[in-house]
Amino acid sequence: MRKKLFAANWKMNLTPAEARALLAAIRAALDPLAAKLARDREVMVAPAFPVLPAAAQALAGSSLALGAQNMHFEEKGAFTGEVSAAMLRAFGVSHVIVGHSERRHLFLESDEMVGKRAAAVVAAQMVPILCVGETADERDHGHTLAVVLRQLQAGLAGIPAEQARRVVIAYEPVWAIGTGRTATPEQAAIVHGAIRDALRDRFAAAADDLPILYGGSVTPDNVDSLMAKPDIDGALVGGASLKADSFARIAASGIA
Ligand code: PEP
Repeated sequence: MRKKLFAANWKMNLTPAEARALLAAIRAALDPLAAKLARDREVMVAPAFPVLPAAAQALAGSSLALGAQNMHFEEKGAFTGEVSAAMLRAFGVSHVIVGHSERRHLFLESDEMVGKRAAAVVAAQMVPILCVGETADERDHGHTLAVVLRQLQAGLAGIPAEQARRVVIAYEPVWAIGTGRTATPEQAAIVHGAIRDALRDRFAAAADDLPILYGGSVTPDNVDSLMAKPDIDGALVGGASLKADSFARIAASGIA
């Protein structure tokens, strides 16, 4: 059975002190549910890099996983502003978001670069959360599946088939991120189904073990209807992950 994943992407928000307070509140809500959550899902938070030490401390003894928002593919060197796998692993990071649309569109990360990052995350024994998704313009022109499948193929290019089970995909329509405009469960289900088919072509049976998350204005009000679709296996959550009660409610979807 594939496990769901509910992942918080805190983006460039929260100081270490604010993150500690938020994690204490998230833990107060989720720690009592730990046994139930562990049956079918993981819950992860991805703070900004300088907040990782405080978050790692605040998560000690919990079942919540620690994630990062990006990672460079080289081990070390002259890459100002980037961080390496070893730096992330030193704080117990287990998951790394790669190819988020803000990285692709604001910082011009190419499909090829995202693929290198994903492969490096896998090589470092961590789990990449590979984000794919179309812009509003691409959707309006009927290019949604072509764009998503191109990003998927490039993002997975460097990942050996025997490592497929380490990978998580996040379908995040760009027009739904931070806009309050969620994809309908039906719109999301079409893309998730196409992603699953492409994963089967690429990884055969292992494709059925990979979680495909939905991201884009997920809230406590819409999470249950999205999760009711067969190939939606969790959520990548931005805005709603900055409030303990809403993130805890999302992470416990179907349980509490
Ligand atoms: C995201 O940044 O990955 C995201 C989905 O953001 P939001 O939930 O705010 O739309």
